[in-house]
Amino acid sequence: MNRMVLLVVLALGLATAGCDRVGARDDDGRPVVLTTFTVLADIAANVAGDRLRVESITKPGAEIHGYEPTPGDIRRAAQADLIVDNGLNLEAWFAKFVADLDVPHVVASDGVRTIDIAADAYAGKPNPHAWMSPLNVQLYADNLARAFTELDPDGAQQYAANAAAYRTALQQVQDDLVTRLAALPPTQRALVTCEGAFSYLARDAGLTERYIWPVNAEQQATPQQVTGVIEFVRSAAVPAVFCESTVSDDPMRQVASATGARLGGVLYVDSLSEPDGPVPTYLELIRHDADTVVAGLTGSAAR
Ligand SMILES: [Zn+2]
Repeated sequence: MNRMVLLVVLALGLATAGCDRVGARDDDGRPVVLTTFTVLADIAANVAGDRLRVESITKPGAEIHGYEPTPGDIRRAAQADLIVDNGLNLEAWFAKFVADLDVPHVVASDGVRTIDIAADAYAGKPNPHAWMSPLNVQLYADNLARAFTELDPDGAQQYAANAAAYRTALQQVQDDLVTRLAALPPTQRALVTCEGAFSYLARDAGLTERYIWPVNAEQQATPQQVTGVIEFVRSAAVPAVFCESTVSDDPMRQVASATGARLGGVLYVDSLSEPDGPVPTYLELIRHDADTVVAGLTGSAAR
């Protein structure tokens, strides 16, 4: 979108903004924190407690890498009190219009020790999926507490306390995963997925990572990508392979049938489920993925 079109869209958006947002403000009067996707919204809500109204631009189940913002999204962003994005090029679609808005903005992943993507067109760029390691999300919580304190200084103590409690919960999930993986023979600690979204979790939990494509924006597997994963699964005798909730698992079915590995189940990465689904929060997302991976690799039923 060029700048002129953007300004027109923005003006149109502001002209109609009164109807929906004023209603929200009248409801509870809290400052609005707008995040780019559901996982980030839940992490932010844990730190915000009930002092801020945290929303997500994209809905549960949405594909976030190639998302196209609507005029309504731009309107919401222009009216927010604080915008939170993941950064690391995850929301290239978002950065384009945020740059023109006069709204405070915080990058949740600021300070994370990044891992570069090794393959394909993304080679050398940082892997955006930093939230897939609970240890990184501890840093997200600190960054959010700092940003919320700037927005609402009266809430400083509460944000610090919320972030500290959330850090503890994140550490428990991390420690539990590492303990359970330690029971596996080292050669079986391999995580084979559709998207290369698990680099940070693999690093922090001692897993070897293999994937079909690096980022979900390209969900067309090439024959070379599928063949490469098949060769790895065969050579390492990996018992189970996995795919994520927001993409087609067809290429991973090919891998499974070519190698005899089981399809170990659905992993959640780029989106939470609906509130009544299996992963309505980030902590449940990580626990679900840990359960699924451990059950797949050990041949036991998921907890
Ligand atoms: Zn992704």
